[in-house]
Amino acid sequence: MILNGIGLKQILAISKKSLSIPHRYPQILHQFLLRLKMPNDTRAPFPSSAMIEPIARCNLKCPECPVGRGELKRSGIMKLEEFQAIWKSFQGKIAHVLLFNQGEPFMVQSLDQMIRECTKTKTYSITSTNAILLHKNNWAERLVDCGLNELIVSIDGITQTTFEQYRVGGRLETAIQGIQQIRKIRDASKKKYPILTMQMLLSKVNEAEWIDAIQFSKKIGCDGIVYKTMQLDRVEDPNSKIFLPSNPKLWRYIEKPDGTIVLRRKWKGCSRLWWHPVIHSDGELVPCCFDKNSEYSYGNVLKEGFTNVWNNSNAQLFRKAFLNSPKPPFKMCENCTEGLWAVELLPHQLKKYL
Ligand code: SF4
Repeated sequence: MILNGIGLKQILAISKKSLSIPHRYPQILHQFLLRLKMPNDTRAPFPSSAMIEPIARCNLKCPECPVGRGELKRSGIMKLEEFQAIWKSFQGKIAHVLLFNQGEPFMVQSLDQMIRECTKTKTYSITSTNAILLHKNNWAERLVDCGLNELIVSIDGITQTTFEQYRVGGRLETAIQGIQQIRKIRDASKKKYPILTMQMLLSKVNEAEWIDAIQFSKKIGCDGIVYKTMQLDRVEDPNSKIFLPSNPKLWRYIEKPDGTIVLRRKWKGCSRLWWHPVIHSDGELVPCCFDKNSEYSYGNVLKEGFTNVWNNSNAQLFRKAFLNSPKPPFKMCENCTEGLWAVELLPHQLKKYL
């Protein structure tokens, strides 16, 4: 059984994942339903979700991140008024919003006010952080109060030694302190949100910790844990491979006999361009989060307005390249998660891999 490139096995995997993460059920189901309808037009309907980047700077220097390596061409912060102007186009029309992309959102002091705008329109909001700044600036109170639905905390090691090997410059103790503060305030105020999800990027340094990490996530106050397979930003660079786990089953790649690595995926097209816009902190509307430096920008929503850009000639020309394309039409698509199922794994799924 194949529906829009999705096999029965994948449908079952999605259903199981939905049931295991009940708070994400509406989103997962929503994305699944959207994929049933294969886009065949360069014009896209109004999107169902969006990613809006509050900032393109970071306090850490993670080696596989273009921000950490200083390769991102923008470095600005989105002003609250700019966010509000963008949000006017989306409010009440989209199901969920991701308030992160490149950069560390908790370096933006108006982040809670941005989230509050989303809460007002009952839009499910998610942000993601390296957790290093959470213990400062009353973030715990402010986050519980503003109504954020989910906070993903990147904890890539359960000891300082493993943690800092990827999160270069980060203190694990500081991250834990911030998470515990949020949990304490959330529980004391008898609120359900934000749901705290610990995300562990599987690498060579932490692969032996994955089982202990389940207990660890509970101990530090998280509601659950999800493992992420590592994306190599420079897949062609043999030095990047040093981060990959020694067990290749934990890779999203396969190694070819000549030593090059490619994604463990059969190309089935990209539907994301039709339902999930990504807006950079400077207002550039790009096809997806893989367009790190706005190379394929459709236009600027702060200057032209979202609805004028979403289906303009640049957007339609870009989508056209994907219609019936037998292979990824752009270089960035060769290393992307679209159509790839080994990206986020729950403990029971990871166990099956090993
Ligand atoms: S990198 Fe290409 S295939 Fe992947 S989401 Fe972006 S446009 Fe789609």
